[in-house]
Amino acid sequence: MTNDYRFEFRPYQRRFLRSLTTNHGNWNIREGIILRLNDESGKVGWGEIAPISWFGSETLEQALDFCRQLPREITDEIIFSIPDELPACQFGFESAWEWGSEFFSMPNAPCPIPHAQSFSGLLPAGKAALNQWETLWQKGYRTFKWKIGVDAIAHELKIFELLIHTLPAFTKLRLDANGGLSYEEANLWLWTCDNLKANEELPLEIEFIEQPLPVEQFQGMLELSMNYETVIALDESVATLGQLAACHQQGWRGIFVIKPGIVGSPSRLRKFCQQHKIDAVFSSVFETAIARQAALQLAAELSQNNRAVGFGIDHFFEQEDTWLQSLWNNL
Ligand code: MG
Repeated sequence: MTNDYRFEFRPYQRRFLRSLTTNHGNWNIREGIILRLNDESGKVGWGEIAPISWFGSETLEQALDFCRQLPREITDEIIFSIPDELPACQFGFESAWEWGSEFFSMPNAPCPIPHAQSFSGLLPAGKAALNQWETLWQKGYRTFKWKIGVDAIAHELKIFELLIHTLPAFTKLRLDANGGLSYEEANLWLWTCDNLKANEELPLEIEFIEQPLPVEQFQGMLELSMNYETVIALDESVATLGQLAACHQQGWRGIFVIKPGIVGSPSRLRKFCQQHKIDAVFSSVFETAIARQAALQLAAELSQNNRAVGFGIDHFFEQEDTWLQSLWNNL
């Protein structure tokens, strides 16, 4: 692309087929912004801004304000100087800019997805997981994530017991607390997982427990990571590049969950990952095919340990098909 682009954007809303329940509450509608850059030679780049403000990014309103105040013609300089307070915008604009190196019309065809085996499928919270895993298994998923910290711990431990004895051998299971456990509860979960590993011929692997404690309790998680065999992954604690660098600097050597859609600038993320060789799991922000394509590209480049990517979330939405195309044409 040359250095001047015509810039256009469109807000969108997508309803979840079933409400997404985590420790942060219920999520029913995904809102975001699709953007398009055209250069003088006719090349087109698509980008997507998909913030999750309760996870640490800017709000949709802040992203919209940023888009509205931009001129119709923008430059590299504008794209690469978006402030760190707007990480989802940094991702959206930079990935549109990178997209420009190849010609695409509109990505309404499913984007190239590696075999589902390398995807982690998201199970619904609670005992619904017991009935849902099989559909995902049939689609080829071998890694699952289950949300914990949503209900009382005694209740969840009972479902967990059933779940691990229901899932087939060689399955990997991730537990995601979304920062919803107390220090005592986190100890109990980690102790339970360690015990399973030690005492039982468990045919499946508990791959990690994600974000057991709230973001403010980094030291607590650092301690827990040293006291148990079961690995801990940080997610909410490392939502943006600044947080990622800070946690690494304070000694975190466990897993980092990276959500490219809100982490910030892809070029700076590349630099960080290449320099520090962190153990990263790449994960979705319930974006459309546009951001997903850019995020999966980053995952393919930067994954060190071949961990399944957390993009197995298609079953939470209607099929995209021509939805994106009509969003653009009808506005
Ligand atoms: Mg998580």
